[in-house]
Amino acid sequence: MPGATFAACDVLFANRIPALDDDEIKGRFVLVLEPPRAGARDGMNVVAVGITSRRPTDGTGVRLPDATKYPETKTGLDRPSWAVPSWLLTVPVCVVDRKAGYAKTSHVVAVQSKAVELGAEIKSVTCGDADCASCSHDRGG
Ligand SMILES: [Zn+2]
Repeated sequence: MPGATFAACDVLFANRIPALDDDEIKGRFVLVLEPPRAGARDGMNVVAVGITSRRPTDGTGVRLPDATKYPETKTGLDRPSWAVPSWLLTVPVCVVDRKAGYAKTSHVVAVQSKAVELGAEIKSVTCGDADCASCSHDRGG
């Protein structure tokens, strides 16, 4: 979605998101923690965490509202869903398929504080195109 703007709390569906525990890359939901940095050009990245429909066994997941439990929710999630603080990602705009909805500030705050507590390392997502202007921001281009 080139040219789109995103904000903290947005729930996005993005392509090419690597799994937390293995190398499986596929389209997944992510929760935006930080919008693009001020001064970023069009190839802006957001800081986000992965969202899973399987409750994390280590108890660190932050449950997000979903339509099965809260039909009025604006998250766009239709299955039980958890944001995973240790699954910290920079997501370039080129892999974002769509904005699904948005969560609450309290969810983002809970995820951020757990990510800090866990010392989560941030992983860079790329679209795989070596010439991509969006992804090149992570490579210092
Ligand atoms: Zn790219």
